[in-house]
Amino acid sequence: MTMYEPVIGIEAHVQIRTKSKMFCSCPNTYGAPPNTDTCPVCMGMPGVLPVVNKEAVRKAVVAGMMCGCEIAKFSKFDRKSYFYPDLVKDYQITQYDLPICKNGRIHIFGTGFSGEQLPDKWIGMTRMHLEEDPGKSTHFSNCTGLDFNRSGVPLIEIVSEPDMRSADEAYAYLSSLKEIMQYADVSDCDMEKGQMRFDVNISLRPRGTEKFGTKVEIKNLNSFRAAHRAILYEIKRQLVELENGQEIEQDTRGWNDELGETVVQRTKENANDYRYFPEPDLLPIVFTDAELDVFRAALPELPADKRQRYVRDYGLTPYDAQVLTSDRSYAEFFEAAAKGSSASKIIANLFTSELLRKLGESGGSLADCKVKPADLAALAELVNASTINSKTAKKVFEEMFETGKDPKTIVEEKGLVQVSDEGAILALVDQVIEANPAQVQQFKEGKTAVLQYLVGQLMKLSRGKANPKLAIQMFQERLK
Ligand SMILES: [Zn+2]
Repeated sequence: MTMYEPVIGIEAHVQIRTKSKMFCSCPNTYGAPPNTDTCPVCMGMPGVLPVVNKEAVRKAVVAGMMCGCEIAKFSKFDRKSYFYPDLVKDYQITQYDLPICKNGRIHIFGTGFSGEQLPDKWIGMTRMHLEEDPGKSTHFSNCTGLDFNRSGVPLIEIVSEPDMRSADEAYAYLSSLKEIMQYADVSDCDMEKGQMRFDVNISLRPRGTEKFGTKVEIKNLNSFRAAHRAILYEIKRQLVELENGQEIEQDTRGWNDELGETVVQRTKENANDYRYFPEPDLLPIVFTDAELDVFRAALPELPADKRQRYVRDYGLTPYDAQVLTSDRSYAEFFEAAAKGSSASKIIANLFTSELLRKLGESGGSLADCKVKPADLAALAELVNASTINSKTAKKVFEEMFETGKDPKTIVEEKGLVQVSDEGAILALVDQVIEANPAQVQQFKEGKTAVLQYLVGQLMKLSRGKANPKLAIQMFQERLK
């Protein structure tokens, strides 16, 4: 890869979460029996008129603002004509030359999919526009089924600048984009339900040159992992062609996940002519400054800003901050727990290690979790005040997770309060010294590592309740 540099751009489609569809009052839901959430408008019957969904427009503006876009005070809808069985009207209502948002950017940093450090950089966003989803084709062995429940569901198409230079950067861009859409409450971006899909453009050019090479488009990817694999595959394929002196064909390709390769779907010769023209049945979207100010005032904090704030204000490690902000519900839980607590680092620790582990094991979600933010804060407080040690905290947490009881009750019921009484610990120290003469001898001969073993014996005797720091101190004094 030393000779050539990949140039990558992404077009992402994000379904907007609304109650009803983009231009009719059918519900915007998922999983209903085929062709039940439909009406004459989203079935493209002649003579019907579309009506714009105000909430979809509001969410597109919010999405644009969260990505630093300029919001157009005047934008309009256009018809894009093409012929495909799942497009009922034979045209899609979209936005062509006057999109609702343009010139945004997204910050990527941290570690990439493969685990290495990413360059700290901004990926430009050319535009964001509103459009409607077509229906869905399902291919069976001898026929194709068409489901129009999805027909007319509001989408935003988000077009990036060709600013990415590796599969890892593309992965980071998509992850950030998804986070922002979730934080802004624009979409759940549930990829298994097709709520986020993307097309990737890739070309190679000799390093140090400005001119773009011939680009290949990979259509309809629906997971970050597939996008990452498809990009790596395509970079390698183009590289081999170029090194063999071949020219790259300007193809549209699909990704075959099973074979792990891209396959030609369409060549330049049969590219579509979409014959765009203004949608005559819809008025343009017009905003005043005051209206846009209202949207701007209600914007949530960006996940990247939140991460920096967690490191600065709560003293968390960048890793913990990244985990806690990777999902809006995590961040909300953490902030509710850490509010007014002096043990925020312990809370973060319990959340990222214990709570997420148990959620992963049980397959449950944070919303249904029996442990509430106040309970986690109370547990962290018990550790912070040395009432229990961190080992006991794990045990208490397990029980909180199963029963939903508050930590103080569990600690009292089970008698788990840490023993910090010097007299009691000293008695245990003597007991351990008496029972382990060989190890004591080793310690006195300078093998100080054996202290771990002696402390371990003491913790066992105390059934995990002794204050380990105090125990270490007293052993050291006793064996001096
Ligand atoms: Zn409808």
